[in-house]
Amino acid sequence: MTNPSGLDVVVVGAGFAGLTAARSLTAHGYRVQVLEGRDRVGGRSHTTTIAGVPVDLGATFVGPTQTEVLKLAAELGCPTVPTYNVGKNLIRWRGRVRSYRSTIPKLSILELLDVSRIQWRFERLGKQVPLGSPWTAPTADRLDHLTVDGWLRSVHAGKSTRDLMAIMSRVTWGCELYEVSMLHAVHYIKAAGGIGTMLDVKGGAQQDRFPGGTQQIARLMADELGDRVRLGSVVERIEHGPAGVTVHTATEAVTARAVVVAIPPAHQGSIVFDPGLPADRAELATHWPMGNLSKAYAAYETPFWRTAGQSGEALSDDGPVFITFDVSPGDDGPGVLLGFTDARTFDPLEPDARRARALDCFVSLFGDAARTPVDYVDHRWSAEPFAPGGPTAAVPPGAWTTYGHRLREPVGGVFWAGTETADEWTGFLDGAVRSGLRAATEVTGYLATN
Ligand SMILES: Cc1cc2nc3c(=O)[nH]c(=O)nc-3n(C[C@H](O)[C@H](O)[C@H](O)COP(=O)(O)OP(=O)(O)OC[C@H]3O[C@@H](n4cnc5c(N)ncnc54)[C@H](O)[C@@H]3O)c2cc1C
Repeated sequence: MTNPSGLDVVVVGAGFAGLTAARSLTAHGYRVQVLEGRDRVGGRSHTTTIAGVPVDLGATFVGPTQTEVLKLAAELGCPTVPTYNVGKNLIRWRGRVRSYRSTIPKLSILELLDVSRIQWRFERLGKQVPLGSPWTAPTADRLDHLTVDGWLRSVHAGKSTRDLMAIMSRVTWGCELYEVSMLHAVHYIKAAGGIGTMLDVKGGAQQDRFPGGTQQIARLMADELGDRVRLGSVVERIEHGPAGVTVHTATEAVTARAVVVAIPPAHQGSIVFDPGLPADRAELATHWPMGNLSKAYAAYETPFWRTAGQSGEALSDDGPVFITFDVSPGDDGPGVLLGFTDARTFDPLEPDARRARALDCFVSLFGDAARTPVDYVDHRWSAEPFAPGGPTAAVPPGAWTTYGHRLREPVGGVFWAGTETADEWTGFLDGAVRSGLRAATEVTGYLATN
């Protein structure tokens, strides 16, 4: 294979992982080309506006221990603001709406004790599961053959605990508890620093957000890279061997010394590798499916719930909206409510029905004033025409112990990035950035000796 382009590395995918890898490799003096299938950069980070306010259809929040994405944002001049968290949170539970403070909603003493017991047992399991290589845990086989639902039932978790965990599963993996491997859940939550850090606002992953949206970070990285980023370039085939790689789209073939594939495992199956990948690496793509999560935003003249002493934060056991946040720019308006919606019941609906169902949910939590927004937008990641799904992979039982060792192991000059390959904050923007930096380091080592 000759390398007429003079390129060192092709990066597939211009999400946070691919752009970070390209930025790091470029900074080290390597010649890089990024090929992105969509007509935009950012991947699962996509910012739009509602009533003139930037809002994120994908990733929104960032927490204090997500240090790599925070460092990147600071370098690019993208400030954060605290997530609005003043006043009472609401919970719609068993048909009643009640208010509470803190992350743990108002339940009976017995229910709260059960939640604490399960959280403690869950995190204790994490002690035996090494970050980055969960399949090596002494308990790996047992945990990977259980779903989270199966485990909860085996330790006699109460119904309220299971329902709360189901909400966590929907917002974290975009799937139900009976779909996700217990080994995956334990590893994922350990990589996020524990259940509290993952779910909390103060001190946790929802502590802050970017008032200009998260996609600006990707856009600024792409601006730096200039014509090294090519949009509308769906990679269909990768030829690889000791002499280098040739990466094919429908219209071009780009040669280089190595390739970084920075797309979720589920989407890697649409690329033909020549020669074929090791059998278990190739099969990984069909065993690492994406979950599905959707969002609905409603904008009002003012954040009227604030004057009622409410934070805008709510939990509901009745969908399709099951979690809400206040992402308003200030007290004086516009007021913007974000609702995470359950893809299973929300995504099949027509646009008018989606809007009506989302507003019904906002009304049931925040009252009649929520019925008449000045603007509304929703987004279904399951319906993306290219590279669908998100927030992240919903890894089923058996996948980690069968294929996990292949997840990020390079195959010759083929390297793997993407948040699903991260050891810390896997599934989040921070994990994507960390994976891009790790892949860039691996490629640098490879290029120095090949
Ligand atoms: C609804 C939702 C809410 C979320 N909330 C948060 C949050 O609050 N905080 C947080 O930190 N994270 C959140 N996330 C997760 C976060 O968005 C992801 O972890 C992160 O964006 C993943 O980045 P990535 O670069 O690994 O992958 P991606 O962003 O998926 O990038 C991969 C890129 O590769 C491209 N691609 C795929 N196949 C090909 C191909 N064959 N050829 C060329 N290009 C290809 C895709 O178009 C895409 O642009 C959320 C995600 C969603 C969907």
